[in-house]
Amino acid sequence: MNNKETGNCQCGSISYSFNKDKVISAHHCHCKDCQRATGSGKATILFIAKKYVELNGDLKFYESKGSSGSHIRRGFCSNCGSGILSYAKEIPHIFYVKAGTLNDSSWLTIDSNFFTKSANDWNAPDKSIKCFDGNPGIMSGIKTLLKSF
Ligand SMILES: [Zn+2]
Ligand SMILES: [Zn+2]
Repeated sequence: MNNKETGNCQCGSISYSFNKDKVISAHHCHCKDCQRATGSGKATILFIAKKYVELNGDLKFYESKGSSGSHIRRGFCSNCGSGILSYAKEIPHIFYVKAGTLNDSSWLTIDSNFFTKSANDWNAPDKSIKCFDGNPGIMSGIKTLLKSF
């Protein structure tokens, strides 16, 4: 598996790997929950089907309600606190892996920005890619996509 990518939390209790050919897309999310979860201006996440992610270690999850009414479960290491991945409870077969936890993320290209309406001036959205001012409606898009798997 030449295209195997790996990542882990800061203390190493949680690690994961996947084949980067399986990545669906990648996004910056500027929503307030992602800002709080990361302590930064945005979360950078990549979408990949759960079945392609090999996860080692036990994530702790914190669940919050997204603006679309779905329930977002953010998984993190209970020892060092690193956020590793999230998923919507309603669509548990798609993981949103936090790109910053990859050992090498140089290959990643970002497709779009979510929730630009809550972006901060000190971390302004990249206008050269597609911008959604709120929820991109990606959930319905993913449901369609999943039928093709
Ligand atoms: Zn850790
Ligand atoms: Zn977000």
